[in-house]
Amino acid sequence: MSPADPAAAMNGTRTGNICSRCNKGIRSGDLVRGYVTHYPRDGWVLRRLYCDSCGDTSIEHGTEDADEAIIEAVYWNGRLAGVETRARSREESA
Ligand SMILES: [Zn+2]
Repeated sequence: MSPADPAAAMNGTRTGNICSRCNKGIRSGDLVRGYVTHYPRDGWVLRRLYCDSCGDTSIEHGTEDADEAIIEAVYWNGRLAGVETRARSREESA
């Protein structure tokens, strides 16, 4: 069974504002990218948050047995807004 769309699941998620790679502070209105994983028990979980300069657009971290995705969003008042999915490790089965 295919898990729900990561973009929809992550929209409005509250998150920290420090880039996981360069430790830059992210401000409201900044473009961010996130690495998210999905396990049946937990649903989609944000694992890493990247600023615009550091973000990956493809999946490079292999996580065993997890559905993974890269999302792009606007950071706004401590939450992710306008989330879109950029890459996904598994094809969505309709
Ligand atoms: Zn960064």
